[in-house]
Amino acid sequence: MAHTLPTLPYGHDALEPHIDTLTMQIHHGKHHQAYVDNLNKALTGTDGENKSLEELMACISDYTTAVRNNGGGHYNHSLFWSVLTPGGSPLSGNLEAAINETFGSLDALKEKMNTAGTTRFGSGWAWLSVSAGKLVVSSTPNQDNPLMDIAEVKGTPILGIDVWEHAYYLKYQNKRPDYLGAIWNVVNWAEVAKRYEAAL
Ligand code: MN
Repeated sequence: MAHTLPTLPYGHDALEPHIDTLTMQIHHGKHHQAYVDNLNKALTGTDGENKSLEELMACISDYTTAVRNNGGGHYNHSLFWSVLTPGGSPLSGNLEAAINETFGSLDALKEKMNTAGTTRFGSGWAWLSVSAGKLVVSSTPNQDNPLMDIAEVKGTPILGIDVWEHAYYLKYQNKRPDYLGAIWNVVNWAEVAKRYEAAL
């Protein structure tokens, strides 16, 4: 079962002005497509052809670097598109309560995520995950993620923020903190909450 590029659930221009149209076109249509194509190539003739993405992540150390990089890239970007939405959606319910209990406030969580993203040297991701029923913030290099058996901080990711330069450079250039400040305007908290409930 070959992997395929998921359709973007909104237009390329829908996250303006926080994420610009050209960045979305290249990020989804070129970068994510390349991860999908290269993952399919890297899996050809291996037992990984019959595994789901999640199953692959759980035993990623058994596979090649190409499967790790491109499988992670496919998983991470599929999650990323789903946790963004034009104008954002409000945080409420159990997830809001858990964020307040764990981090003190939503602003405190944002600050922790932004710190995780700005201090990740080079390319990588900032994550909010559920680990043993608790919320945890972490970051990973390259296209690694908390589902991978090699991850320093393991868990089920419910929100991931791409801090690769390709995610922001056209609009924000070297100013990663400005991108991280803006992206909270388009976070789909309803989707993050759905993933939170499923991960518990
Ligand atoms: Mn990316």
